[in-house]
Amino acid sequence: MAAIREHRLCSWIPRRANPLKRQLDEALKELGELRAALDAHAIVAITDRRGVIIKVNEKFCQISKYSRQELLGATHRVINSGHHPKAFFDNLWRTISSGRVWQGEICNQSKDGRLYWVATTIVPFLGDDGKPVRYVSIRADITQRKLAEQLARKMAFYDPLTNLPNRRLLTDRIRHASLATRSQGHACALVLLDFDHFKEINDTLGHNLGDKLLCQAADRLRRNVRESDTVARLGGDEFVVLLESLDADLDSALIKTMAISEKIRNAMAAGFVADGRHMHSTVSIGVTLFNDKTRQQDVLKQADMALYQAKARGRNQICLFDASLQSAVEEHAKLMADLRYAVIRQEFRLFYQPVVNAAGIPAGYEALLRWEHPERGRVSPAGFIGQLEQSGLILPVGKWVLRTACRQLEAWGRDQATAHLTLAINVSAKQFLDPDFVAEVRQALAVSGANPQRLYLELTESTFHSDVEQLIDKMNRLRHEGVRFSLDDFGTGYSSLSYLKRLPLARLKIDRSFVRNILTDPDDAAIVRTILELARFLELDVVAEGVETMEQADFLRANHCAAFQGYLFGGPEPLEAVPSTDTDMRAR
Ligand code: C2E
Ligand code: MG
Ligand code: MG
Repeated sequence: MAAIREHRLCSWIPRRANPLKRQLDEALKELGELRAALDAHAIVAITDRRGVIIKVNEKFCQISKYSRQELLGATHRVINSGHHPKAFFDNLWRTISSGRVWQGEICNQSKDGRLYWVATTIVPFLGDDGKPVRYVSIRADITQRKLAEQLARKMAFYDPLTNLPNRRLLTDRIRHASLATRSQGHACALVLLDFDHFKEINDTLGHNLGDKLLCQAADRLRRNVRESDTVARLGGDEFVVLLESLDADLDSALIKTMAISEKIRNAMAAGFVADGRHMHSTVSIGVTLFNDKTRQQDVLKQADMALYQAKARGRNQICLFDASLQSAVEEHAKLMADLRYAVIRQEFRLFYQPVVNAAGIPAGYEALLRWEHPERGRVSPAGFIGQLEQSGLILPVGKWVLRTACRQLEAWGRDQATAHLTLAINVSAKQFLDPDFVAEVRQALAVSGANPQRLYLELTESTFHSDVEQLIDKMNRLRHEGVRFSLDDFGTGYSSLSYLKRLPLARLKIDRSFVRNILTDPDDAAIVRTILELARFLELDVVAEGVETMEQADFLRANHCAAFQGYLFGGPEPLEAVPSTDTDMRAR
């Protein structure tokens, strides 16, 4: 934008020329109006070539809180807020003193100390020599817009509850910290902490007090680290401390980080008081060291793995990330990915183990799941059932087991020689608790045409950790169809005798860990005898699992056990006759 050259308006107007006077009056009137409009809208100041204020309008006085007398003769330095670096004003002066218009946003400070923002245009007026003789600055108050922008920024990068940086800002700080380690050679550390059982505090004392604890924890964390360290809140009860500029020597950096982590752990364990209530909670801490060689996206992940480890080791602990932890996690991730494929590619098979009567003749079978993986080979349930349960994949897989087993039962039912055989399937707690379970069993029976009287569902004691009444109701609905229930691995979990009596069970299965030492360990022998007594009292059948020797079978028989399962009578084998072309597994 070009500067404006000054004109001496009056010098060229002849005094007696009336039409011209009229024109002049009109021009002056118009100018007056323009000035009034400008004054009503903008903050205006005029300075001489050195920047000394020679004119200000009312709005300037209002916003700066200085009187006109105070401003005239002063420079704009009186309203300098210190917000902008020197280079900012150097650039401004360079621009206007060379005759060019400057535009920009400036943060000023009024006499009472308040900061305000103005969108500013400074126009130089040039003298005959082409150099500026004065500067007119026109400003608009944009404080509200700036505050809104600041608020939006704060909301995007800070946690509203504690005012700490949020995950986004933390990620950015990790990036900067990591880059800085390259030039400065030092190490950094990330300390991730999570309150143990915070949910209980929220549930028992209410979210309001829970929030107060989090705010106090944030303050305490800030006080326990250096000003230059970042304390952030990731969400919930998870906080992070980013320690920068540690020693380049990793051992020293580690010692320091562990000392700080210990200090944090103790500070948090000291308890909190809010609204007269005392709150106590320990924290688990995961720590990782990093420098520019660590992939930035891995830093938080590593601290998270270490935290997970701290929780697994019983909480209220500090754990350091190490690479073997990473390979365990990666292996887990690979297994989960393979299991998802296993569902799609139908890599599961059922094996069948005989359950024999006192004479050693098969009265039925238990269906046991196997995973045939192209590289891993045949995998037994211990290697994947837990993961299927955790991920929820047990639902489609369990449904496939149920349908396949029912089809097998139906096939046996068509042959005189096998029509009497029962078939037991294992049902995990998650599967049994699924609201659709009863309908699925009914459907599997209906579709296959299997005899429900020949189907056993094996549940473990862990299933009964939730609402027992509801579970009994569910069992009864299936009992009504003719399906029977076994309590599997009996003796390994916690069974209350009072509800054991009320469960509509047909059978107890003595866990093989008791059978194994039945002849050598008097305690195990006593437990097995007691279970057999108990079963007689509750009028339940008993199957002894894991029978491997004749002596074990004899002992059990002598104590009135009438059914056995174990390698002595046959291990789990594939039944080639079983049709295994179910596509239903993909259905869920
Ligand atoms: P479980 O239901 O108690 O099954 C008996 C386990 O003992 C089977 O292990 C079987 O192979 C093993 N076994 C049988 N006789 C002997 C013996 O004489 N000596 C020894 N040492 N072991 C014997 P498997 O097949 O590895 O299954 C382990 C567990 O996985 C099962 O224990 C069951 O809880 C679970 N499982 C198996 N298939 C399924 C399934 O389809 N669904 C669900 N949810 N769980 C299943
Ligand atoms: Mg079983
Ligand atoms: Mg068992």
